[in-house]
Amino acid sequence: MKISELFYSIQGEGKRTGNPSFFIRTNHCNLRCQFASGNLCDTSYTSWFPDNEYNLGDIPIEDIINEYNNIGCDDIVITGGEPTIFPHELRILIEKLRETRDNLFITLETNGTNFGDYFKEIDLISVSPKLSSSTPYKTSYEKMHENSRFNKDSLFNINQLKNYGICDVQWKFVFSRNEDLEEIYKLKELFNIKHHDIYLMPEGINKKDLDRNREHIIEICKNHNFRYSDRIHIITYGNKRGI
Ligand code: SF4
Repeated sequence: MKISELFYSIQGEGKRTGNPSFFIRTNHCNLRCQFASGNLCDTSYTSWFPDNEYNLGDIPIEDIINEYNNIGCDDIVITGGEPTIFPHELRILIEKLRETRDNLFITLETNGTNFGDYFKEIDLISVSPKLSSSTPYKTSYEKMHENSRFNKDSLFNINQLKNYGICDVQWKFVFSRNEDLEEIYKLKELFNIKHHDIYLMPEGINKKDLDRNREHIIEICKNHNFRYSDRIHIITYGNKRGI
């Protein structure tokens, strides 16, 4: 399976914030986010630059399981890049992880552009649909990103898992400009998402960015009854790998 990095840290975002977790970060993404500030995404080494020399490469699933067993924490976060571009490997990985212990809690972080029946085996789907403020305008990826970033069927199916009580879903939006609100409300109405399942998270790749954007977004959350999510791994460790 194509892996960028495997590491032990705490979950820094969303409703599981603070949980010590083993992170499985897959390499490659089907999008190329560049936000209104000009920042690329905070893991550009998996999306824009997947050939980065520090990415681990093609790793047997057994090795990932062994690495996890050395840590043995309760939470596993499968993230990226975009993990769902490897559906076959992901299905096997989840199966093998479930065999390791009973009380495992698996979070899948996805941009919501793909769906598969293996989603049912996840405890929390943390879906982060990418808004128009993520489009890398005036780059060679603009058209590809615009055409791919929204998949109505996938998002509908993900939401149905929550509606049927099969697994939990949180909607986590990278908030980078006020116009994002209009798009978030459109999605909210389209899929009938509850306020308490929507998290707004400041865009930023370092503490300075987050400090600049935090208060404004907290006020928006207060006014619209959304949840606020910080990115405490970035606040704590800075703009690094393996955090
Ligand atoms: S979808 Fe996620 S990993 Fe892919 S480019 Fe956007 S922020 Fe980065």
